[in-house]
Amino acid sequence: MQHPFVNRPVAGVAIAARGVAKTYTGPRGGAPKQALTGFDLDIPAGTVFGLLGPNGAGKSTFINIMAGTVIKSAGTVSVWGTDIDENPRQARANIGIVPQELNIDAYFTPRETLEMQAGLFGVPASERRTDEILEMVGLTKQAHSYARRLSGGMRRRLLVAKAMVHGPPILVLDEPTAGVDVALRQRLWDNIKSLNAAGVTIVLTTHYLEEAEALCDNIAILNQGRLIANQPKDVMMAGARAKEVRLTLAGGTPADLPGALAEMGARPVEGGISVRYDPEASSVGAIIAAVVAAGLEISDVTTDEPDLEEVFLEITGGAA
Ligand code: ADP
Ligand code: MG
Repeated sequence: MQHPFVNRPVAGVAIAARGVAKTYTGPRGGAPKQALTGFDLDIPAGTVFGLLGPNGAGKSTFINIMAGTVIKSAGTVSVWGTDIDENPRQARANIGIVPQELNIDAYFTPRETLEMQAGLFGVPASERRTDEILEMVGLTKQAHSYARRLSGGMRRRLLVAKAMVHGPPILVLDEPTAGVDVALRQRLWDNIKSLNAAGVTIVLTTHYLEEAEALCDNIAILNQGRLIANQPKDVMMAGARAKEVRLTLAGGTPADLPGALAEMGARPVEGGISVRYDPEASSVGAIIAAVVAAGLEISDVTTDEPDLEEVFLEITGGAA
């Protein structure tokens, strides 16, 4: 399906941020809060881009700056080729935002909600695609139900629809599946994928690594207002998939690591060795076999999956 609205071409980069920083003025007497420290970020056009990070990392702040609802303290942001300071109106037209909170006008139907939003953006009646958009997000049957009767997942999809009425080439979703059950999450993922397949650049924030894995082409990680990683998903996941096996050896920490084990990535730790491995390429069994073949006696085995935090640290060389 060709998305009907993606009609303003831009070369390569959908969002370009340079030195973008934000410090919130503190409450009276309180300390100001530096939410973004000043980073550069390019989001490639046509992709699904994931912005990951723990709560308070600055994800919503960044998105709200793009949306024009938070004023940055420094830097520049260009949205689909339009600088948000030079032409805020056009910049806002270039983007559709699905906010984190489920704000719905309870007494309007999905159809009315979309029609009002189209009016707000000045989309002429002849160019409105209300029914097409409802169909796209799977709300055709609910087109005339009061929004207060919609389930959480349907509300979320209505917000996606609302963000699409003015045909923005970029759709931004802030924590789209937070608090959404598994079946509805899958449905939302399908919506996101089909919008992207139709040409829409998608930017989403999440704190679920699994969600980023399922959807994103590229993943950037924010931590305490800093951009600590920005990589193609596959590269990021190879790091996140890694497991670690720790072998306690009867002889304690080997004085010399046998060559075959060193090649496998083994490193000496207290009481034995530890090996970080990619479970798609190796296994605990293969590692144990190699250790035994090297003539070492194993007295205990423990395995560990590094958490996202450790992966972040590894990716950034401890720079976080
Ligand atoms: P995330 O979306 O990654 O959870 P936010 O962008 O919401 O992070 O918040 C980043 C930091 O900025 C947090 O420490 C948060 O408390 C602070 N913050 C967010 N909004 C405001 C605000 N309006 N006033 C002051 N501090 C804020
Ligand atoms: Mg947030």
